[in-house]
Amino acid sequence: MSDTGLIDKDRRHFIHSALSWAEHERRGATLLESGDGIWLNDREGRRLLDGFSGLWCVNIGYGQQSVVDVAAEQMARLPYATSYFHFASEPAVELAARLAERAPGDLDHVFFTQGGSDAVDTAIRLIRYYFNVTGQPEKKHMIAVDRGYHGCSSSGSGMTGLGAFHNHFDVPTPTQHHIATAYPYRFEGSSADLIQASVAQLRAKVSEIGADKVAAFFAEPVVGSGGVIVPPDGWLKAMYDTCQELGILFVADEVITGFGRTGPLFGSSHDGVTPDIMTLAKGLTSGYVPMGATLLSDRIYRAITDGAGKAVIGHGQTYSGHPVSAAVGLEVLRLYEEGGIIANGQASGAHLARALARLEDHPLVGNVRSRGMLACLELVTNKTTKTRPDPSLGLPDILSRCGYERSVLFRAFGDAMIGLAPPLISTIAEVDELVARLTATLDDALEVPAVRDAL
Ligand code: PMP
Repeated sequence: MSDTGLIDKDRRHFIHSALSWAEHERRGATLLESGDGIWLNDREGRRLLDGFSGLWCVNIGYGQQSVVDVAAEQMARLPYATSYFHFASEPAVELAARLAERAPGDLDHVFFTQGGSDAVDTAIRLIRYYFNVTGQPEKKHMIAVDRGYHGCSSSGSGMTGLGAFHNHFDVPTPTQHHIATAYPYRFEGSSADLIQASVAQLRAKVSEIGADKVAAFFAEPVVGSGGVIVPPDGWLKAMYDTCQELGILFVADEVITGFGRTGPLFGSSHDGVTPDIMTLAKGLTSGYVPMGATLLSDRIYRAITDGAGKAVIGHGQTYSGHPVSAAVGLEVLRLYEEGGIIANGQASGAHLARALARLEDHPLVGNVRSRGMLACLELVTNKTTKTRPDPSLGLPDILSRCGYERSVLFRAFGDAMIGLAPPLISTIAEVDELVARLTATLDDALEVPAVRDAL
């Protein structure tokens, strides 16, 4: 099939994620063909440096043959096993045990999903269940931050703070609330002040709702889709401690930050926090096959188990603990650890921070922030006043276009932020190449008359 034929079929039949459907009809798809290491090849023959690991997920890079082999072997031996009716497969059991072993504290119980949205949805359902069976049925309200992303399920999309995921979808519901994101670049004051302000906001929101009515607080250790906003060290711990004190469950949404993205295996470890519930996806299988997970602390698991007794707990999915996904998850975990990919990501992440710091002087760059292999350049039209580019300028589109011309992929979001999440396998030389291409992209954007005029 010719590319024009495929692009035409795509327009007519394939509904894409999180974009303007009308704009996609106009623009059409970019067809990706193959990948190896940190590189993607598109159907026009362009070799693109993937600075975003697909969608913050391909941590081990493309073309890891051992993962392909493991998936093929598992598919040949047992392509499917249900987790209903007390059945299980070896890879699913082993992966659950290994996650429990590695996750902080007593996060020992794993429910497998297909991705992050249903991992968050599972968390929400089980939190309701937990409070209902422990005699606190009035605890229904949940709080998150206003730039957080917690997926697009009909429950989780209300925990998400981003307008496009709310508008016309009738969320958030009256039991879903948001407080301000801890946003160092746009906060006047010290890190300690910012942490204190967040804690005060959480306390105020809880007392406005009533502590006896608040079930949980959801947080990403580093806000991802809302603009890679890195909180001060200690922020997560302070929010966790506040939740503990107020009798609220603390949910760490580690769909992006899990599996070495920010350095340690789990982002919560940065602050030494053991959440009550943790959600995972993306890096769990490095995007090779779909899988997510919701981890429960021993206390929550036990309370639900004992509270339900012999009653069926009606939460389950056909593909929960899918053996092929689980086999892939085990091999990916082996590559992270024995293959040294987590350690490589830590070294390359430290280099990324140093290399990106050189862009602070660029006329378009207001703020450079990163933690591990997760980074953001926030662009402004006035560095002193930190003025965001006017949305009518369409800077994210300009950047994506210029980046494509320089054969580099990143995520341009908001009024103009460049999100980066390079594969953890990236070498120091590849990080330098990424930053060189980004610099060229920014310089090209600066040559666009509308951009130059806006400065
Ligand atoms: N939570 C977070 C923090 C995420 O970043 C995402 C996806 N970007 C999700 C949940 C939803 O995951 P999925 O797209 O796999 O449903």
